[in-house]
Amino acid sequence: MSRIFNFCAGPATLPTAVLERAGGELADWHGTGMSIMEMSHRSKEFVGVAEKAEQDLRDLMGIPDNYKVLFMQGGASSQFTMIPMNLLRGGSKADYINTGQWSTKAIKEAKRFCEVNVAASTEGNNFTSAPSQAELNLSPDAAYVHYTPNETIGGVEFDYVPDTGDVPLVADYSSSILSEAIDVSKFGLIYAGAQKNIGPAGLCVVIVREDLLGNTIEGTPTMFDYKVAADNGSMYNTPPTYSWYLAGLVFEWLKEQGGVEAMAELNRRKAEKLYGFIDTNDFYANPVAKNNRSRMNVPFTLADAGLDKTFLAESEQAGLMNLAGHRSVGGMRASIYNAVPEDGVDALIAFMADFAKRHG
Ligand code: PMP
Repeated sequence: MSRIFNFCAGPATLPTAVLERAGGELADWHGTGMSIMEMSHRSKEFVGVAEKAEQDLRDLMGIPDNYKVLFMQGGASSQFTMIPMNLLRGGSKADYINTGQWSTKAIKEAKRFCEVNVAASTEGNNFTSAPSQAELNLSPDAAYVHYTPNETIGGVEFDYVPDTGDVPLVADYSSSILSEAIDVSKFGLIYAGAQKNIGPAGLCVVIVREDLLGNTIEGTPTMFDYKVAADNGSMYNTPPTYSWYLAGLVFEWLKEQGGVEAMAELNRRKAEKLYGFIDTNDFYANPVAKNNRSRMNVPFTLADAGLDKTFLAESEQAGLMNLAGHRSVGGMRASIYNAVPEDGVDALIAFMADFAKRHG
């Protein structure tokens, strides 16, 4: 078997050990003579898999008992809609912090349902930083405050958790969940599309404080009501069973690696190496404020954009895949999630140094 280094922003690389295990039990899961994706979601086998995945996630993140863990569908993008529908709870206003394209999309959806106060925006500097706590213009009557701890496209990450007092804090953790320890009790709701640090696409994990459930806006479809999902163990309808199972394998793998603390240390090392290299080589640049540089998504440009195509072609030949920046911004982006090994970052830096020498 040969595996390349995959820097895709999502769907992203998965741990090889997880894929090998899934492959080994694909056609005959634990002697049942069936694959896990051919079983009823209500079978004791699958319910066991589902419950273990939830428990492992609870252990990894230290999720308090008064939080529900929901395994939803529709991606993180559907949460942009479900959040106002579920969390306005009779209110008519929500605060949003805008640090990039994903926050902007969340704002657009929320505006269908309520008045949105943009509590801070870094659009003025082309989304190359996150606002400080002092810059947040929070409304006392907001039903919740929404932010994006890590903007996947711009590569901008908050270096603190906003303090919103008694107003529930809602976080789109799609691209940085499980990359370091967080204090879940500071949040009203955390959500994350699976296809980066959790598992394959098709699943979106929602972690929500119980007291926020059960007060949806009128007309909320059954499938969009968190309480319905919570009351039915995320099985009101047929869940994406294979994605859920694979997420469970990733959670087990994370535990074996030493949990989120070990990931945080590894991710810090990988990011420091890559940014350190970019900062000391004139051929490459990253525009993001140093304290807001994402540990997960590292965008960078070449001194001569005319060399972008050559860079991508040569990097692919070197087994370094999916380094093109988001289609909306161009340039390059290396996504270095939990499952990207340090060797991959070392190989990327070696390639970049050699490329700069030959073309710089
Ligand atoms: N939020 C963030 C921060 C993301 O990175 C993404 C996907 N890249 C989304 C939301 C949208 O996720 P999905 O495609 O699962 O709807």
